[in-house]
Amino acid sequence: MDIESYFSANYQQARGKFLELCAAQGFAMDSYQNKLAQAPDGSDLFMDVATLGAADASRLLVLFSGTHGIEGYCGSGIQNALLGESYFKDLHPDLQIALIHAVNPYGFAHDRRVNEDNIDLNRNFLDFDNEVPSDNGYSDIHAFLVPEAWEGELRTQADAGLAQYARDNGPAALQHAASGGQYTHPDGLFYGGAAPSWSAQTIRRVLKELAASAKQICCIDIHTGLGPYGFGEMIAAGSPAQVKRTFEFYSGYEVTDPDAGTSSSAPVQGTMAHGVERDLPGIETHFLALEYGTLPMKEVMTALRADNWLYQSGVVDSPFGQQIKTEVRSAFYCDEVQWKTMVYERALDVVNFTMNKLCATDKG
Ligand SMILES: [Zn+2]
Repeated sequence: MDIESYFSANYQQARGKFLELCAAQGFAMDSYQNKLAQAPDGSDLFMDVATLGAADASRLLVLFSGTHGIEGYCGSGIQNALLGESYFKDLHPDLQIALIHAVNPYGFAHDRRVNEDNIDLNRNFLDFDNEVPSDNGYSDIHAFLVPEAWEGELRTQADAGLAQYARDNGPAALQHAASGGQYTHPDGLFYGGAAPSWSAQTIRRVLKELAASAKQICCIDIHTGLGPYGFGEMIAAGSPAQVKRTFEFYSGYEVTDPDAGTSSSAPVQGTMAHGVERDLPGIETHFLALEYGTLPMKEVMTALRADNWLYQSGVVDSPFGQQIKTEVRSAFYCDEVQWKTMVYERALDVVNFTMNKLCATDKG
């Protein structure tokens, strides 16, 4: 098998492969157009939901790609590889599979982590009827994260400010302040929005429909950018109760918990894992973020700062802009055979375990 052939050079190619492979494997398809944005070439953007198995099954496995747009190179490659290798044939009669491709199609198509409104979707699943949570210190470092100029004295001062914050508070506090999620700076990093985004609304609607008959649901959301090169960290996400259930489900595996300080991720608020749990009361939910390492964290953070500066103040269609975009892509997708092989083999193991365990449990 040629695993590399399942990974793609851009969003359109990834989507084309996904649609073709899903059709060949007998999946039913629902495509949701994001009418708020277009691809760089002006073409339309879609979140595609492919399902296989009994719609009234009591067990549901959902595999997401591209929640963070550009991270979809990895997630789409995994989804397409599983499809291409006929992994989902001969399903258990009481199991339904859903593959959700490009949760954030704008970010995937534009090689960005955020959506069309600079929203980090994995901070956007709050209940916005309630007061939004505090920002863990983000306001103290916003000006350093997002300097007015990306080169020269202002950039040097910004980097020095971040270094000073880390010296004063520790590197974990810096990571938490920067990436934990903030609701005060719409032009900043890790901005969770002021209302549910198109992607969040669509995901919530789709999952409620998919889970109508489900008693037990496992979600695996594929991410990149944290941790050692090619390693897939199994991060349990959501409320403490959901994290506990997820730990129990995956007992025997090394599962991490950001709130306990055991993960490469800082504690994060408003994640899709929180939304799934809130929207599906009465269902035994498990949520795993499968987080693959790419480059060292500082390089990834620098790439995100550069991307933010480029879209706020720079010229995307310039040599410097394109240089930044190349660096951003490298921070979230290692276009190398070794990395793709590692990423796929880990996913195969985790998905395999998940399907077997879901089907081994007696639902009465
Ligand atoms: Zn991510």
